[in-house]
Amino acid sequence: MNFAHRTDHLHPEGAYQVLARAQELEQKGMDIIHLEIGEPDFATPAHVSLAGIRAIATGHTRYNPPAGLASLRQVIAEYAGKLRNINIDIDQVVVSPGAKPNLFFPTLALVNPGDEVIYPDPGFPTYQAMIGVAGGKAVPVPLLEKNGFSFDLEAFDRLVNERTRLIILNSPSNPTGGVIPLPDLEHIARAAMHFGAWVLSDEIYNQLLFDGTLAPSIASIPGMQERTIIIDGFSKTYAMTGWRLGYGIMPAELARRVELLLTHSLGCTAHFTQLAGIEALTGPQEYVSMMAQEYRRRRDRLVSGLNEIPGLSCLLSQGAFYAFPNIQGTRKTSDQLANLLLEGGVAVLPGSAFGRYGEGYLRIVFANSYANIERALARMDKVISGL
Ligand code: PLP
Repeated sequence: MNFAHRTDHLHPEGAYQVLARAQELEQKGMDIIHLEIGEPDFATPAHVSLAGIRAIATGHTRYNPPAGLASLRQVIAEYAGKLRNINIDIDQVVVSPGAKPNLFFPTLALVNPGDEVIYPDPGFPTYQAMIGVAGGKAVPVPLLEKNGFSFDLEAFDRLVNERTRLIILNSPSNPTGGVIPLPDLEHIARAAMHFGAWVLSDEIYNQLLFDGTLAPSIASIPGMQERTIIIDGFSKTYAMTGWRLGYGIMPAELARRVELLLTHSLGCTAHFTQLAGIEALTGPQEYVSMMAQEYRRRRDRLVSGLNEIPGLSCLLSQGAFYAFPNIQGTRKTSDQLANLLLEGGVAVLPGSAFGRYGEGYLRIVFANSYANIERALARMDKVISGL
C-alpha cells in the first residue's frame, strides 16, 4: 500500500510492544512482573472519580468548547501559575484529551518542513514522532549519565543555531528520572532567546520529585514565558492515565492556533472528565504527596537492589517513576538484556527504545508494589548472574 511519506518514520511505542509480548507469555502460563508501562499503579483518588461519575449522571456528556471549559482553564491558570511563580491568563490555557495532543499540536503549529527541532535522547518517543509528522529535522541532544541525565550542554551549544525553531525539554525525565537544574535551564534559555527559538517544556512529572529536588520551569526565567509552551496534565500526578486529560500553556496567539487544530481533529475534551479535573486540582492534595512518598520508598529499594547486581549500576532517580540503570557491564545490548529478563519473568524496556543514546541502559518503572519490585530484583539477579 502507498502511504503519505509523513507517516513513514512512525513506530509503535516500545512499552506497548513489550506489553504485548509479556501478555503472550502470560497466556502460555508464565508469571510476568510488569515494570514496562509508565503509569501509576494507584487508583484515581475516590473524590475525583466521584466528581466524574456525578458529572455523567447529571448530563455533562455533550460537546463543549474546543480549548476546554472556562471553569477548568481558570483553575489551571491559577494552579499552574502559582506553581511556577508566573502569571497565566485563561486564554493561554488549552485543555486536551491527555497531554499528548498538546505536544503534537503546538509542534504542528510552529514547525515548518526543514526547521530544526532539538529534543532529548533518550527521550519520550512521541517527540521524534511529532517532529517527523511536522516535517521538521529532528536534532537529538544526548542526556548523559555523567551529567545526572541533564542536557549535554556542550552538544547543545554545537547543535543550536538560527535554524532551530523549537527546543524540547522534559524535566523530570522519562526515561531517565533526571532533572535539569536551573543553571542549565538558564543556559538553554539564553540560547533560545539569542536564536529566536521556541521551547516546549514537558513538565508532566513535576509533582513526582524526591529528596527535596526542585525541577524549575524554564518558563519562570525572565523573557521565556512568551516563547515557551508548558505541557502538564493529570495522568501522572492524579493517577488519571485513562481519563485522558492534559493541558498546554502558551502565548494566547499560539493557543488560538492550537485550539483550531484541536477543533478540527479531536473536537473537544469530554465534559465530565474536565469536571473531574477541577476536583483534582481544587480538592484535597494529600493523595499526591502520599503517592510521591511511596514511589520514593520503592525507588530506594529498586536502585539499591540494582546496584547489587553484577554488571549494573544505577543513579538515584530524582523524579518521575523510572530507574535507568547502566547495563554495559553485562556485555549485552539493551534489547538482548530486556529479552532475557522478559524470559526470566520481568518486563522492562530497552534504553534503545528511547533513542540512540539510550543504548546501554534499561528503563525500569517503579510504579509497582514494593513486594513486586523485590521479586523482580531477585529474578533479575538470577538472569544476570547466570550470563
Ligand atoms: N510526556 C511524557 C514525558 C510522558 O511520559 C507521557 C506519558 O507517558 C506523556 C507526556 C503523555 O501523557 P498523557 O497520558 O497525559 O497523554
